[in-house]
Amino acid sequence: MSEICQICGLPKDLCICERKVEEKIIVRIEKRSYGKVVTLINGIQRDNKELKEIASKLKSKLGCGGTIKNGIIELQGDHRRRIKELLIELGFNNIEIY
Ligand SMILES: [Zn+2]
Repeated sequence: MSEICQICGLPKDLCICERKVEEKIIVRIEKRSYGKVVTLINGIQRDNKELKEIASKLKSKLGCGGTIKNGIIELQGDHRRRIKELLIELGFNNIEIY
């Protein structure tokens, strides 16, 4: 029997309350060769499957291409203006934009 979380009432091994608090999302812009710019989203502590779902939602909302490298979501273009709002919609709350 595992312990029950006081916040959500789920067993501790299913609960993501603590993970949500720890998850700090860092968004930054990186310039690539040939004047290309990518938006990097770092700090999402999810498994690969969930990360792919998040990335594809962001790509369709922003209408851009993108990929995942070492747990970091890379989106083509500069999306700093809209990304925070979209990440909040997806349930993230601790987001810093650089
Ligand atoms: Zn919980």
